[in-house]
Amino acid sequence: MRRLLFLGTASGMPIASTCTAILVEDGETNLLLDTAGGHDLLVKMNEAKVNPHTIKNIFITQYDSDHILGIVPLIRAFRGEINPIKRRIFCAQNVKDAIESLFTYVAKIHYEKVKPYLEYVIVNDGMSYELGRWRLKFFDSKSNRTPVMGCTITFPDDIKLGYLGDEPLKEHYIAAVKNCDVLVHDAFCLEADKKEFEPHEKNHSTVKDAATNAMKVGAKKLVLFHMEDKTLKTRKQAYLKEAKQYFSGDVFVPVDLDSYVF
Ligand SMILES: [Zn+2]
Repeated sequence: MRRLLFLGTASGMPIASTCTAILVEDGETNLLLDTAGGHDLLVKMNEAKVNPHTIKNIFITQYDSDHILGIVPLIRAFRGEINPIKRRIFCAQNVKDAIESLFTYVAKIHYEKVKPYLEYVIVNDGMSYELGRWRLKFFDSKSNRTPVMGCTITFPDDIKLGYLGDEPLKEHYIAAVKNCDVLVHDAFCLEADKKEFEPHEKNHSTVKDAATNAMKVGAKKLVLFHMEDKTLKTRKQAYLKEAKQYFSGDVFVPVDLDSYVF
């Protein structure tokens, strides 16, 4: 078994929760999917009783602020280690360039201390990587705005997870996520709220879109993330209700600090 720990479930401009950061772990390997938008990442880790020092692998899908900026407090946390460990950062070249550019000024001293222990794994469309006993495959999410990468993770028991970054499903990588066991898909807002939140103008999805896409690729389970949080109090029941109208498998609608075991 393994779990997804949702340190942050919000889209880019939250008012009451944390931007995207999902820790995937199975007791043997871990991978942080995106790093949220800043220092609240460490607050959430503390609340979830996750020691930042235990994070060994990070995948940053894009250089948008709500996915990349938590790298700053993370690097600061890593600097305090008496016995530093090697860590991998999976990202496209443009994200590595953004990180390097950021640390030219921000937390420069911390980064210089930690950098010798960081291995950047530059990911490309179609690239595979063996991470312990996990098989990672990366794909270009073909975003119309910031370049975004997604990935699938196939675990030792052949359970497959698909993570699309914060982009709606595109034809380009349908084959990669086809019949996956768990599809982690962005769902910016309910279909009925799209006038208010304008998900399509922002290249994001409604819950209906996510559920329809999950059905289209034959996913067994759908997990939503990257959601507006103005309706946080009613999110679980309202999003679940809409998703179930278009997807027949299990649906999980997290709020921050929820875990999903599968
Ligand atoms: Zn985003």
